Amino acid sequence: MGTISDYFGCLVFDDRVMKANLSSDVYQSLRKTIDQGAKLDASVANAVAAAMKDWAIANGATHFTHWFQPLTGITAEKHDSFISPAPDGGVIMDFSGKELIKGEPDASSFPSGGLRATFEARGYTAWDPTSYAFIKGKTLCIPTAFCSYGGEALDKKTPLLRSMEALNRQAMRILKLFGNEDVKCVRTSVGPEQEYFLIPKEMYDKRKDLIYTGRTLFGAKPPKGQEMDDHYFGVIKPGVAAYMADLNEELWKLGILAKTEHNEVAPAQHELAPIYTTTNVATDHNQLTMEIMQKVASKHGLVCLLHEKPFAGVNGSGKHNNWSIATNTGVNLLSPGETPYENAQFLLFLCAVIKAVDDYQDLLRLSVATAGNDHRLGANEAPPAVVSIFLGDELMAILDAIENDTPYAGTQKTTMKLGVDVLPRFARDTTDRNRTSPFAFTGNKFEFRMLGSSNSIACANMMLNSAVAESLKIYADRLEGAEDFETALHEMIKKTIKDHKRILFNGNGYDESWLKEAEKRGLCNYRTTPDCMPHLLDEKNVKMLTSHKVFTVAELESRCEIMLENYCKTVRIEATTMIDMARKQILPAVESYVSDLAKSAAAKKTVVPTAACAYETGLITKLSVLTDQIAEKTDELEAALLDLNGIADTKEESFAIRDTILGKMAALRAVADEAETQTAEKYWPFPTYGELLFGVR
Ligand code: ADP
Ligand code: MG
Repeated sequence: MGTISDYFGCLVFDDRVMKANLSSDVYQSLRKTIDQGAKLDASVANAVAAAMKDWAIANGATHFTHWFQPLTGITAEKHDSFISPAPDGGVIMDFSGKELIKGEPDASSFPSGGLRATFEARGYTAWDPTSYAFIKGKTLCIPTAFCSYGGEALDKKTPLLRSMEALNRQAMRILKLFGNEDVKCVRTSVGPEQEYFLIPKEMYDKRKDLIYTGRTLFGAKPPKGQEMDDHYFGVIKPGVAAYMADLNEELWKLGILAKTEHNEVAPAQHELAPIYTTTNVATDHNQLTMEIMQKVASKHGLVCLLHEKPFAGVNGSGKHNNWSIATNTGVNLLSPGETPYENAQFLLFLCAVIKAVDDYQDLLRLSVATAGNDHRLGANEAPPAVVSIFLGDELMAILDAIENDTPYAGTQKTTMKLGVDVLPRFARDTTDRNRTSPFAFTGNKFEFRMLGSSNSIACANMMLNSAVAESLKIYADRLEGAEDFETALHEMIKKTIKDHKRILFNGNGYDESWLKEAEKRGLCNYRTTPDCMPHLLDEKNVKMLTSHKVFTVAELESRCEIMLENYCKTVRIEATTMIDMARKQILPAVESYVSDLAKSAAAKKTVVPTAACAYETGLITKLSVLTDQIAEKTDELEAALLDLNGIADTKEESFAIRDTILGKMAALRAVADEAETQTAEKYWPFPTYGELLFGVR
């Protein structure tokens, strides 16, 4: 392999390749489609398809696939070969514009939450030209949206693209009011920081819980966990360093700007961050990154765990969604400007975000809700389940001065009048100190920190973009009709601060007192997925999301159903796996240890008839109590699972799981983990936490 710049993006049909392989006319019209969403005509599509095929074949591809993101959380692909029969009995390599633009996977088993039943049995995939095609293995992957024949979205990309468009529409109205005539469009950018664990594959293979559920369902605490804080940013072990080097190379070939990597807080936990890019592309890249992370790991004899909480008692993994809004002319609208006028514009966008996050806390919370992430949010490691915004002291003081018409200490002027005073530049270190905030302003972007490591970032961003679009729409409606723009602007910003300051919180989000305070402020605290997901269908949310054309009512109903169904299935599989492990592995292991203890006590007595054998007797007694408890708790869990079968409604089922199954799983785990601490190591049927967490060299 040559230098990075030689091979960076070598597997991507990117702008460089397009320019080199398309006629100037075709290139120009494709660019117009990419940049401005212009319609692509058939002849252009055919030319692009032909060039794409030739390039892909030259780079070793034999197949193509429409690559899409169904609602299951992973990516899907169905490979078609380029070959097509030729009259002479041979084959030619063929790929038409029609095949590029539209695909028809037989996708009837992807979850649709009843959507396809009401519309059309099959769905189709549609090329998203704004995300470059790439080669994976021997397959040309074409990023696509996945819809039903009625046009209802069956994937995550479609609503994300719609939300970006909604935000663009409303932000453009605001920018016009501020006289930005040169701006053609506004886009959101995201840089997602991805956390993950690496464990030895041979140990993973011995744990059914990891194999079936991605997390450990049993496991006593190791003698050493993360209490020494010696792993965070610590020296990277050689095996891990080799993995990271290989991973970077694979990502760079795919044009993914993997930039930083370091150890995280927990042993065996690491993080990878790319350089930020357009939300749509960042989403595709993050999906691809997660896939490549797992693939590369297996080459190194490792397994990459992307579950939010692979190990109890050890920090879980999240994903930080660094988000900003910028114009096509390169102006970051969340960056305080150089002039008073730019500052007023910045404050308006800032207020739009504050209002959006307050008005749609529930949507943000539910956009990251999964059974896995429920283990993190609210534990003392990730942000709490309560959404709040951290702005930093400086910006808080400015907002305070505006709200109360009082002098701002940072300026010489008497009061903060918008459009007159210049705001101070916010130094990164004054805005980025808070690590416990779910939604933190970090100088020129917001960092949404509630996402779980396995979440698609599409979900959080579609809600965030839509909610901000709604604030901007309300502002634009008001300002476009205002007699005096500046007065109206000032009043509106003041009103936003007054109405929404309850969402602003600079303190420690882990503090118990904050939860009480948040409750007093009327903020939502949805601890679990069943608590928050049904709010997707609240009237205010449906109204907002449909009015911006991000979702239809039917799409929202189906999504709510699918997300709850996912939750139920996930926990059911976990519970079933626990029962299996308890009965087939844990109980037999403890039994055989007990039996050996009894044998050795008996053996002792044959030699020394007066031996008390207190050790054996004591341990056997303890373990017999524990095995009885394990058996009993296993039966109880099984009975509770059976009871679920009587519940027809998914929402009701999710409530029952939250209220009964989770508690029974915890009870079973507690006694099994206790048994682990009392059982000799060689009897334990699968690798321990210590071996899993400290096994990678
Ligand atoms: P942290 O201290 O959280 O690790 P970094 O500076 O490393 O912060 O950035 C984290 C992520 O934020 C990176 O992916 C980076 O590309 C992204 N980022 C930086 N600036 C922006 C921006 N204006 N918009 C969106 N993401 C950004
Ligand atoms: Mg961060």
